[in-house]
Amino acid sequence: MQQSLTPGNGMLLPRTLHYFPANVAVLSVCGSCLGFHTKQILRARHFWTCSCPRALGRQRPLSVTIRYASDKGTARGGAEPLWSPLKDFLGLDRLDTGQKLDISRRQLTELLTTNDRTLIKSMYAVAEAATTAYFGTKVYARGIVEFSNVCTKDCFYCGIRKHTKVHRYTMTKEEILACAEFAYSQGMGTLMLQSGELPSPERINFMLDVVRAIRRRTMDLACESPPFPSAGPNQRDFPSQRGLAVALSLGELPSSVYQAFLEAGASRYLLRIETSNPTLYTRLHPASHSFQARRKCLEELQRIGFQVGTGVMVGVPFQTVEDQANDLLFFKELDPDMIGLGPYIVQSQTPLGKLWLEEHGEESAAKQEANRVALLERTTRMYALARIMLGNVNIAATTALEALDPEGRELALRRGANVVMPIITPQRLRGQYEIYENKPGIDQDALDSTACLERRVRMAGKDLLLDGGWHDPPHFVRPSVE
Ligand code: SF4
Repeated sequence: MQQSLTPGNGMLLPRTLHYFPANVAVLSVCGSCLGFHTKQILRARHFWTCSCPRALGRQRPLSVTIRYASDKGTARGGAEPLWSPLKDFLGLDRLDTGQKLDISRRQLTELLTTNDRTLIKSMYAVAEAATTAYFGTKVYARGIVEFSNVCTKDCFYCGIRKHTKVHRYTMTKEEILACAEFAYSQGMGTLMLQSGELPSPERINFMLDVVRAIRRRTMDLACESPPFPSAGPNQRDFPSQRGLAVALSLGELPSSVYQAFLEAGASRYLLRIETSNPTLYTRLHPASHSFQARRKCLEELQRIGFQVGTGVMVGVPFQTVEDQANDLLFFKELDPDMIGLGPYIVQSQTPLGKLWLEEHGEESAAKQEANRVALLERTTRMYALARIMLGNVNIAATTALEALDPEGRELALRRGANVVMPIITPQRLRGQYEIYENKPGIDQDALDSTACLERRVRMAGKDLLLDGGWHDPPHFVRPSVE
């Protein structure tokens, strides 16, 4: 039996999980609470209304369609027929919405390469259902400021590596703060500060000062003005989550520095491993760069209490499909809170870019087009499998996808991603942070980038959430009691 449920009727849904009775169905529940209560929703039969502040009249609740498999009370997702090919492929008796699946290396390799359209469609449908179960149709926004392209490292694929000729810049504290105010005024909730790797004491002290200043200034702004009209539960439930959340992507640093950043007010850290294969890592980096050191940094960040993100490149030279399968298993083992997956896009001035051009530069236009389409498919399949395996983590639809296809990010949002990262770096500097060629948005300013992204998210059938909330993924358990 399938029922289309409409919002508004019913009783309050307690946020305490174990009070929630079995065989009761949730009807009206906002996006974030839908994720919170997924397991309960699956066991539900009657109609309830979410009790979070957002659902109480501030935002139209989400309408949920639930299909009942039997009277035994195990409701299954409304799109189950579409899921069957994946369920059968994995040899499962049942497949519940948002269930985190264990998939073997062999199965992953097959799923990454299969041409079976029914199985591929099924994989995408399960990934989309899981995303919806945890996040509704909401897409979180994290404003990103590329505040410096100075880097002491020499990664073979990167357009701002130490040995690339590019004008070097570092924004001033006031310039970064202006970006923070912009992000806050747009309701982004999180500001990501990204740069090349520069572990000098001067840079670290500068950044500690910047992090403190961003937290202070945006908390002041939050106190001066009322919360955003559509503010989510975070701003009300957790006063310490007022102002902007600060996320950092500054590369490998000593544990004591990570600890100092956490104490200064940063709460999230993105450090992409780029590949989980140590041998491949050595082919993508000079001998002085260590896979083990990078991995250790990720573990330290988790131990210290950061919300940690990692990610890989897809389609990089020498990478095999087994490497990609292992990347997904690496995610499963590391258990991060955020994932950032991007296709490898050539930067012709880099060692890897030159190598790639030697091999592929002379290919016909038709072949190049086929490569582009294949890379887009290969990358978005990784999104879908990451969602299916990891469930309730944040997955960012990276800007690099748009370099492959103008609708690349929309595709990722329909195949497992739930986060976008509008670039709010001042327009005059964007051309100098070209880590790969044809980076989108170089000629846009921050307002254009945000508006453009809002349109794109809508085109994917989702809503960009600009309510000032921090929107931790349900996977992240905050270490201290608020
Ligand atoms: S990838 Fe990061 S660490 Fe490596 S060269 Fe580029 S900016 Fe520097």
